[in-house]
Amino acid sequence: MNVLVLNCGSSSLKFAVIDPDTSLERVSGIAQRLGSAEATLDVKRNGNRSSEPLPGARHEVALRAIVSLLGEMGLLERLLGVGHRVVHGGSTFSGSMEITPEVIAKIEECIALGPLHNPPNLVGIKIAHELFPGMLQVGVFDTAFHQTMPPVAYTYPVPLEWREDLHVRRYGFHGTSHRFVARAALTLAGLPAGDHAIVTAHLGNGCSCTAVRNGKSVDTTMGLTPLEGVMMGTRSGSVDPAIIGHVSQALSKPPGEILDMLNKRSGLLGVSGLSNDMRTVEEAAANGHERARLALELFCYVLAKAIAALVVPLGRLDALAFTGGIGENSSTVRAKTVQHLGFLGLELDEEANKVHGRGTAGQITKKTRPQALVVATNEELMIASDTAEIARRNGHAAR
Ligand code: ADP
Repeated sequence: MNVLVLNCGSSSLKFAVIDPDTSLERVSGIAQRLGSAEATLDVKRNGNRSSEPLPGARHEVALRAIVSLLGEMGLLERLLGVGHRVVHGGSTFSGSMEITPEVIAKIEECIALGPLHNPPNLVGIKIAHELFPGMLQVGVFDTAFHQTMPPVAYTYPVPLEWREDLHVRRYGFHGTSHRFVARAALTLAGLPAGDHAIVTAHLGNGCSCTAVRNGKSVDTTMGLTPLEGVMMGTRSGSVDPAIIGHVSQALSKPPGEILDMLNKRSGLLGVSGLSNDMRTVEEAAANGHERARLALELFCYVLAKAIAALVVPLGRLDALAFTGGIGENSSTVRAKTVQHLGFLGLELDEEANKVHGRGTAGQITKKTRPQALVVATNEELMIASDTAEIARRNGHAAR
């Protein structure tokens, strides 16, 4: 039994075929630079990678190419459904949902909140409906896990009309990853399912941290949009909002352009002046590049402050779980961050910290309570599992 997982972005389409029962990934890949002459379909199967040019292809052509590949591999047989990553589910979705015309209408209503992400997500849903008529389609929302946050965590202290009429509140993102990682950390740390306090730190190109109390998100760093919170690859994270007015006036540029720079030209890239890639920043910092050093220090300092703040809603800390490309691979970022948090009782085990990385999950501190851990995230598996769960609940069989 297989589930096709799709993550449709503005110029890319990530896919994976996963057996949710065995967690086995049969094939995965990404169609990228869609709409340009350089578009490609990159595929990973049985540990081997290949790439084919798809010049000028848009999402539909790319998905047709993916479906024909799956057909050749015999993976369209016993397909249970298609699971779609959907970024913004607003306050409407608190869990994964079978996609019906009503659900599509609600995702469309959330476009105002996720103008960059929801439209391409909807394109993926529409094309999948055309290519797999009658097959189960499931939407898995980045925001859903955070719908358990209490009002003190999701309310911004802003005028009532903004909150009521414009739905201005904290939504939070990366929910599928935080949910997966909190569960894995619970097992790894041997914590009781009904009584635990975990902070998950998802550090990829986008970065966010979440406080998880007994399996539920109680607070998170990202907000109305993924711009808020800790420092990221190209996003600033939280800054004084008055900076927008100040810079807009000083440069005679519209506020939207300044916001774009906070999203695309800030973070590691803005501070280092070199790159949004942590590997490049770390290497340059090690070679004495001053701005890269500041970028690395600032990243870990801001991250540690955010993690410490998330202990407030938890009341205590049992485990801190690092995940995502940086969290899983950068022993330097983990070491610096844990060292800032010594006052919480975290004590780095330098050897263990060096050993653990992508693929090898485990503890990186000396004491077991509280402990810091590395956990490899797997959002695709979570989407496949949710799709299988909904198939069982709603009586859909594989075809
Ligand atoms: P995305 O958020 O797009 O899924 P990833 O989770 O793959 O991205 O994370 C990308 C980030 O991980 C980049 O900043 C990259 O530099 C960082 N990264 C990957 N490998 C390493 C490594 N060995 N050391 C430090 N950073 C790494």
